[in-house]
Amino acid sequence: MVDFAQRTIDLARQNVAEGGRPFATVIVKDGEILAESANKVAQTNDPTAHAEILAIREACTKLGTEHLVGTTIYVLAHPCPMCLGSLYYCSPDEVVFLTTRDAYEPHYVDDRKYFELATFYEEFAKDWRHRRLPMRYQPRATAVDVYRFWQERNGGQRTATVAPPG
Ligand SMILES: [Zn+2]
Repeated sequence: MVDFAQRTIDLARQNVAEGGRPFATVIVKDGEILAESANKVAQTNDPTAHAEILAIREACTKLGTEHLVGTTIYVLAHPCPMCLGSLYYCSPDEVVFLTTRDAYEPHYVDDRKYFELATFYEEFAKDWRHRRLPMRYQPRATAVDVYRFWQERNGGQRTATVAPPG
């Protein structure tokens, strides 16, 4: 039996040794590794190349589904808001994190123009008018027509996808 937590730590350590950032994700299904990735932001300059995102993409491509029901996802640290959102979208049975953001903060910081590690979750909870990320609502009545069009093309239903029972 593979120690999936240890595999996650080993992947992240290896990534750091290769000049990458200290994060990794391992996705497990039926007792086996379905997909895994380290964070590849430093290697690719893609700010969305977090370990969770890359591993979820690989797992969903392999399974041919956008639902990861029936999987357990191991992450080195509690996920950032972007990855937390992606975890909600793919519906795994469980997410296992091996350290907290508070625990790694003395050793690793990745603050940006509009957030610090400690304020990122609070930013999301704010009304859009009060976020530090400048956002502007530019209403167009025809924008919602795109959704009407989708509904028409899909037999009048409005549910895009239903997660299979896991
Ligand atoms: Zn992330």
